[in-house]
Amino acid sequence: MDSVDVVVVGSGPNGLAAAVTMARAGLSVRVYERASTIGGGARTGELTLPGYLHDLCSAVHPMALASDFFQRFQLASRVELRQPEVAYGHPLEGGRAGLAYRDLDETARRLGVDGPAYKRLLAPLVEHWRQLAQFTGGSLLRVPQHPVLVAQFGLRVLEQGSPLWGLRFESDVAPALLSGVSAHANLPLPGLAPAAAGLLLATYAHGVGWPIPVGGSQSIVNAMVDDLLLHGGQIVTDTDVTSLDDLPQSRAVLLDVSPRALASIAGDSLPPRYARALSRFRYGNAVAKLDFALSDPVPWSNAELHRAGTIHVGGTHAQIARAEATVASGRHAHKPYVLVSQPSTFDASRAPEGRHVLWAYAHVPSGSDIDQSNAIIGQIERFAPGFRDTILAQHSSTSVEEEAMNPNYVGGDISSGAATVGQLIRRPTLARYPWQTPVRGLYLCSASTPPGPAVHGLGGWHAARRALAVEFGITRAPDLRI
Ligand SMILES: Cc1cc2nc3c(=O)[nH]c(=O)nc-3n(C[C@H](O)[C@H](O)[C@H](O)COP(=O)(O)OP(=O)(O)OC[C@H]3O[C@@H](n4cnc5c(N)ncnc54)[C@H](O)[C@@H]3O)c2cc1C
Repeated sequence: MDSVDVVVVGSGPNGLAAAVTMARAGLSVRVYERASTIGGGARTGELTLPGYLHDLCSAVHPMALASDFFQRFQLASRVELRQPEVAYGHPLEGGRAGLAYRDLDETARRLGVDGPAYKRLLAPLVEHWRQLAQFTGGSLLRVPQHPVLVAQFGLRVLEQGSPLWGLRFESDVAPALLSGVSAHANLPLPGLAPAAAGLLLATYAHGVGWPIPVGGSQSIVNAMVDDLLLHGGQIVTDTDVTSLDDLPQSRAVLLDVSPRALASIAGDSLPPRYARALSRFRYGNAVAKLDFALSDPVPWSNAELHRAGTIHVGGTHAQIARAEATVASGRHAHKPYVLVSQPSTFDASRAPEGRHVLWAYAHVPSGSDIDQSNAIIGQIERFAPGFRDTILAQHSSTSVEEEAMNPNYVGGDISSGAATVGQLIRRPTLARYPWQTPVRGLYLCSASTPPGPAVHGLGGWHAARRALAVEFGITRAPDLRI
């Protein structure tokens, strides 16, 4: 078999980030991907009707825009990113809604009595969102460069993640708005990890925005693929790597896979202690996805929700907390928390003229094989009566099918490992360089490494930087600019 400097297994955003980084350092790189299409959790394709483009997984990209890797890569100059004026909205009964405008002041103004408290909660974080992104964008096991900001963030996480969460608010709108964004963590509320996720995502809403890429998430992947090919990289699809023996000779192998797959692919070459640590890594609750082709925009009762890229559907804090607790106990919620993105409102290329696509998923227990179409449609219909009549076609995917599509989502856990506080620090093991395995030349670069889930490429970037230093003696960061 031939040889290359670097092999990457998996072409998700982290695998491609690792591959781009290695190729930009002047090394020969080959990526192997089991699917027939490139991009893992950032692919776009037709799922319902011809001419309707759906994001198969990720849809909205605050984490990409805030990412150190993608800033170095000049993502915003390579891909057209549309910024909804309202990053996310949160419908409530009676036609009311919480709206997270890009502008923090406008958001606070609309929150009325709770506006000042909301602003006090987020203003210091929004002002320093770059430093917060720097802290949260890598291993948490390092000395923070901005300790005051980290302390401010930590105190807010303690407040919002504890029974104190509602004390600063009087109405139900601000708590619902924060619960909707915290629920991205797919963990019981209140809790420290959901509070951290929610505060970070809320900070980005007002700091950097929640953009939608023109053409779908695939545009981000295509930009990375173009760069990789331009710098001599190769991509081989339809190749499921089951053992290190399947791979050509190389000095470094970076796996964009789950810790479970790492253990299986590396087999006996892993020291037993490390293999045991990998087996203790826990996968979290799952999602069931539903994509729609629509004849019209969603008929939200609150018309302002048309300005939002993302809608958190689940009602009040208490209703969302109940749904999340039900899922965490292994049962399906009757009225689940549903995340909705309406990309064609901002990117007309996604659907034929005048038509729309809608992307939604509900939280479900791990390994669920129950179709959630009715539950998801019921939840949207609750805040958008008549929604059902706009549906031209739909495509449903259970959490079991999510895993079949991509084994990184074990049991349908799209975070590739529960994003608890413990597992954000120990991801997948407790180590100064968690991307590096004890096997010489073998690295893990997926969302199961810091900083965890989302399309930011940082797992790949950190793994590649470590491999460059250890295996090739290259300590200078490669230039990723256009
Ligand atoms: C439904 C859904 C919605 C999401 N929404 C968002 C969102 O809006 N915004 C956001 O930022 N993030 C979102 N995410 C999360 C985000 O997509 C992931 O965190 C991100 O894609 C992880 O990147 P990765 O490179 O680590 O892994 P992945 O993107 O999962 O890619 C892993 C790749 O490796 C391949 N692979 C695995 N095993 C092998 C093997 N043995 N051999 C060869 N190839 C292999 C897989 O086929 C896949 O292509 C969402 C995810 C899902 C599923």
